[in-house]
Amino acid sequence: MKSLILRTALTLLFTSSFAIGISAQTEEAQENTRAIEFPDIPGYVTLKCDLHMHTVFSDGNVWPSIRVQEALRDGLDVISITDHIEYQPHQEDIPHPERNRSYELALEAAEGTDLLVIPGTEITRFMPPGHFNAIFVKDVNALNQKDVMEVFREAKRQGAFVFWNHPHWTAQRPDGVATLTEMHQELLKEGLFAGIEAYNDNTYSKEAVELAEKYNLTLLGNSDVHGLVDWSYQIPEGGHRPVTLVFAREKSAEAMQQALENQQSAIWFKNTLVGNPEFLALMIEESLELTRKGKDPVPRVVIHNHSDADYVLENISEYTLHNFAPVFTLKAHESTTVMVKILESLDSFELKFRVLNAFSKANEHPEINLPVK
Ligand SMILES: [Zn+2]
Ligand SMILES: [Zn+2]
Repeated sequence: MKSLILRTALTLLFTSSFAIGISAQTEEAQENTRAIEFPDIPGYVTLKCDLHMHTVFSDGNVWPSIRVQEALRDGLDVISITDHIEYQPHQEDIPHPERNRSYELALEAAEGTDLLVIPGTEITRFMPPGHFNAIFVKDVNALNQKDVMEVFREAKRQGAFVFWNHPHWTAQRPDGVATLTEMHQELLKEGLFAGIEAYNDNTYSKEAVELAEKYNLTLLGNSDVHGLVDWSYQIPEGGHRPVTLVFAREKSAEAMQQALENQQSAIWFKNTLVGNPEFLALMIEESLELTRKGKDPVPRVVIHNHSDADYVLENISEYTLHNFAPVFTLKAHESTTVMVKILESLDSFELKFRVLNAFSKANEHPEINLPVK
């Protein structure tokens, strides 16, 4: 998502190019400025995914095609519509005997676009075990059965990827602390779930990040949107929905599932990134482009930030900076010039930063190395 200033500039550009009739400029001006932007990593694509959302086919307020249009506006690569199996408050108006229907309608709506729609559903039980999403399912109808352990086993038979939703939800966990019960241990022992939402709607669970670390679970962060995404996240005012970034070999359902199973993910919410230490650091490095200018021994380095995150950096290089204290911010989609006191003449040197608004574990920040030539 680019800044409002840029958005305004693009609007002006659009207006002026329209007036003088230059179509190339118009095309550029029409670029989607609310699209969530994070770079790919060499060998991997960074898939922007929202894997938890509802429609009128459970307790949501919109038709599945609206979820597709919202996702396209947000520049998402993948969505999964995960209507509740057991909670059907619109059943009188929408009887819903075919539980794959919201997926089918979304798939139809996404035809001809780059958006990948993967089948999913939300297993909706009291705690324990609470709510779980099963994605990459083959037939949601077969998951509509009484015995909850059997539901999970059926999801596994279908080859689904299953993750624990909002384990910190205060309606089910009054203290807000994600905690494994005996039933969760049992599910883990049978290999019946492999991921955990550490971010849901507008809430974060540090304890869920700790559980992910302890039990090798994949971290996810999703909107769980029921109304309109624009209203839930103030997108017209510059907000964004939470997403799961999945680092996959390619943009396909198979590659994405493989990546999820390998815990190759990160969460993006409220200007914060949380995720896989290795991939997160690589993605942050990839989003920064450095250009060396000026004279030694205090060269200027222009750092352009190609991502949506304002990176809050702590300088841990062997050099101090001439124009910043050790903590400063690289604004999203902007260039920042740092003056580096290298003290001598060097062909190349390295800047090292700790990224304070990113977490690679519950309490740890990723460190990035940026070579300057
Ligand atoms: Zn839920
Ligand atoms: Zn939900």
